[in-house]
Amino acid sequence: MQEALAAAPAECCGLLLGVGGTVCRSITLTNVAATPQVEYQADPSELFRALRLADDQQMEVLAIYHSHPQGEPIPSERDIQEAHYPQAAQLIIATRGQAVELAAWQIVQGVVRSVPLQIRESVAKSAEDEMPSRLGLQILGALITFALAMGLALAALT
Ligand SMILES: [Zn+2]
Repeated sequence: MQEALAAAPAECCGLLLGVGGTVCRSITLTNVAATPQVEYQADPSELFRALRLADDQQMEVLAIYHSHPQGEPIPSERDIQEAHYPQAAQLIIATRGQAVELAAWQIVQGVVRSVPLQIRESVAKSAEDEMPSRLGLQILGALITFALAMGLALAALT
């Protein structure tokens, strides 16, 4: 989330890796899209390395995230068309100023379904004390767990 705010007005993107539906690690990927303000495309070699790492550490790709710097956390037409990994949830982080909104989606062959998202806060005390009223900061560093009803096998990615 910090990353999404820092990247604005460009979109950021990356992967969330984990085990059993719980995110253990996030990997930032470089957005190499021609117009990063309105689209994202992960750097292919970084993506390849991230998938290898997931495989080596026996983690699954739980979600592919990207941000919408001035929009809603709803998949765009392009996001739907280019969702090539149906096993992973598509997590969209919408930022507007310092406000952050998250939503997760499962996109299978153009069909979009909402995925329930659970966020367990693990906010450092200092951050909380500094700006208790800002949603964006309250959820910084939060652990994200997905209660996915589907199996998130990595098989198709390897
Ligand atoms: Zn998008």
